Amino acid sequence: MVARVIPVSPFDLVIFGATGDLARRKILPGLFHRFRVGQMPEDAAIIGAARSQMDSGEFRALVGAALEEFVAEPDRTPETIAAFLSRLTYVHVDAKGDAGWDELGAALRADTTRAFYLSVSPSLFGSISKQLSTRGIATAESRIVVEKPFGHDLETAKALNADLLQAFDETQIYRIDHYLGKETVQNLMALRFANSLFEPLWNSTHIDHVQITVAESIGVQGRGEYYDQSGAMRDMVQNHLMQLLCLIAMEPPSRFEPNAVRDEKVKVIEALETVAPENIVRGQYRAWNGKNDYRGDAGNPASRTESFVAMKLAVANWRWAGTPFYLRTGKRLRARASEIAVVFRDPPHMIFPKMEGRKGNALVIRLQPDEGITLRTTIKEPGPGGMRLTEVAMDMTFADALGSDLHSQDAYERLIMDVIRGDQTLFMRGDEVEAAWAWADPIIAAWEDGNQQPAAYDSGGSGPEEALMLMHQDGRRWRAIGA
Ligand code: NAP
Repeated sequence: MVARVIPVSPFDLVIFGATGDLARRKILPGLFHRFRVGQMPEDAAIIGAARSQMDSGEFRALVGAALEEFVAEPDRTPETIAAFLSRLTYVHVDAKGDAGWDELGAALRADTTRAFYLSVSPSLFGSISKQLSTRGIATAESRIVVEKPFGHDLETAKALNADLLQAFDETQIYRIDHYLGKETVQNLMALRFANSLFEPLWNSTHIDHVQITVAESIGVQGRGEYYDQSGAMRDMVQNHLMQLLCLIAMEPPSRFEPNAVRDEKVKVIEALETVAPENIVRGQYRAWNGKNDYRGDAGNPASRTESFVAMKLAVANWRWAGTPFYLRTGKRLRARASEIAVVFRDPPHMIFPKMEGRKGNALVIRLQPDEGITLRTTIKEPGPGGMRLTEVAMDMTFADALGSDLHSQDAYERLIMDVIRGDQTLFMRGDEVEAAWAWADPIIAAWEDGNQQPAAYDSGGSGPEEALMLMHQDGRRWRAIGA
């Protein structure tokens, strides 16, 4: 089956920060892919905006080099790159001053969807949105896209929301969490809400526990200064892991529509019980096997920032009372591997005698490196020799049946096209982000007040011993990272 591509309406997309790392690595290559497969209409225009002085020709050369670096060979030809670059222009704009705004306004067409992607530091969100609004560059139909980090705590997140809301309505604001753009994350919603098979089992009667792991093999080198002010809790848990938890735990929305979905996600965050200190483990990687320690990478010899967090959470509602959610994320772990595992309870009565070592049913949603969904099932081992049981992982993504080209779309590509279509379902609403900070803030404050030292763990391992104990003490175990 070949991927169905429905072109979006014509648009003018302005990328603030178009010369920056994120634009060159993700946004512009993502747009190139949408162009290549025919989703970008003929008269779509992309306008790069940044502080550097350059003309459109120089900008195209910069983007051309980025495409050669970040788009794999079979997906690009000199002709497709040239055709894509012909859609690009550049305007030098100073977010903090007056330069460039008139030129930017003049570059936009009337009666064409306008989207402004702020791929810049959040400290510029307020001034850019104000300029766009007061100069009449943004219309009531325009969309504004903002990147993470959305705040450092509840107070700063509220201030960012207030800045954006001065110039835009909530229905125009698209807060990106690229985990929501992943194919399998959306497939999880399809599995849950488009089948009658799973939803009756989706509760504490049938689900023993849920594990969410986002493991990275790299350290913080290159981002050390930023990361040391942030830590794993702010950088990963408050946003990405929280979003994944919400999608697993939420009630079925009445419609697959932005506010219906986001209302249900907010309810999950609000239902989280206060986490007892013994249910949280913070870790920091130490030197091992020729690799630096965290403090060396972060350039802060006395740092107490966590590069790892594991926690056990309880969602206090009828559906989930009695089913713990275990979350863990960290840097310099044994592999880059992210997954959600929904682990089902054992059958109430076992009729087969030889069941030792059997792991039970688990629905595993793998986000990276290879996206996919599998259902671990127990079956009879084929062939003669009596009733021997074995486990198989059923592929629930059906890549072979549906065609692998369906799975190549990057999260950024999908989300940018949703912005153009005006679909906010996969973007975080302001109250959702604030609820997540309201949950995270007291946990972080307790660490800071207690001057707590994170537990050390070896680079390239599975995290601190204490994180393993978090599950062992409950008679459970983490799935192996990258298994
Ligand atoms: P970056 O490489 O430092 O790029 C920043 C961009 O902002 C540059 O294009 C820069 O223009 C522009 N800029 C700075 N000051 C400006 C001003 N006064 N007026 C107009 N433009 C200005 O940053 P980045 O890594 O791309 O990150 C951009 C945003 O995305 C940040 O909020 C970051 O936290 C977030 N983010 C990044 C990543 C990532 O992988 N990089 C991932 C997730 C989120 P000049 O270069 O021309 O000065």
